[in-house]
Amino acid sequence: MIQTRQRQPPRELLANQLKWTKRWQASRPKQWALKRAKTLLLETVCWKSFGKCVFCESTLDVSGFAQIEHYHAKTVRPELTFDWDNLFLACGYCNNRKRDADHAGRLLEPDVDDGEQHLWFDFRTGELAASGARGKETIHLCDLNRPGLCKARLRQYRLTMAILQQLTDTGTLKKRFRRIAFDPLSPQAQYKLVIRAELPVPVAERDRRKYHAAV
Ligand SMILES: [Zn+2]
Repeated sequence: MIQTRQRQPPRELLANQLKWTKRWQASRPKQWALKRAKTLLLETVCWKSFGKCVFCESTLDVSGFAQIEHYHAKTVRPELTFDWDNLFLACGYCNNRKRDADHAGRLLEPDVDDGEQHLWFDFRTGELAASGARGKETIHLCDLNRPGLCKARLRQYRLTMAILQQLTDTGTLKKRFRRIAFDPLSPQAQYKLVIRAELPVPVAERDRRKYHAAV
């Protein structure tokens, strides 16, 4: 689960939002958006979540499995189909699991909620757990404990731990640590929650503040 970055909507989206929404509302065509609109949206929502699925935190290839996620389903709230605050990047798996139902209020919101406040990582199984109802529902709805994902988190965890154990050694190892999956402490890192789970909270918090101050 990723807390997204904020910025103004792209100009082209603002200029066409009304027209595109009307097209979708008027006849509910099979394609909710034309190719040009989808390309623009994919490219821009990608920035919001550092190129990762907002739910499972996997890095996505915009030309492949990346999809445009509507937090409020477009069939339930068609007027928000092209609303910038309702659009995110998701992988096909998470997006399809949610389906076109109204989950708003039950799902964690990527632009509001910080996943790390709701979810935690079990380093024995690779699974995520939550104490609150919305965290639990997000895990369930997006199937965030699917086997492939748990394995990927465990791989990231073991790689990180192996390097961390040697960190006291030399500056070279520090460089290696910073290279794995970009910078493992930055929001771009894949499955960063896995890594942060083993770090003292002040370290993760300090890094997060530093990062957000820099962007
Ligand atoms: Zn996903």
